[in-house]
Amino acid sequence: MTKPCLHTGWMIHRRIDHDLRGFWSAYLEYHLSGCPRCREALAALLKLKADLQNVANRETPKLAPDRWAALEAEWDKVDKD
Ligand SMILES: [Zn+2]
Repeated sequence: MTKPCLHTGWMIHRRIDHDLRGFWSAYLEYHLSGCPRCREALAALLKLKADLQNVANRETPKLAPDRWAALEAEWDKVDKD
């Protein structure tokens, strides 16, 4: 994945979390307008976030009760190790 410039990395992360305001927000917009590398990094991170939300929103897969039981049994083994 393309990495943003060193000094804008934290701004891009905060922007993705909608937590970048005021001067830094304006600065990042200015920087993005002249920096394809940061634009690419921002786009990649936004896509990643959207993909993760899609996975999180997806319904829990349906599994037959005996498969759940088998899964639980395997976890029990792992816990005992
Ligand atoms: Zn940059």
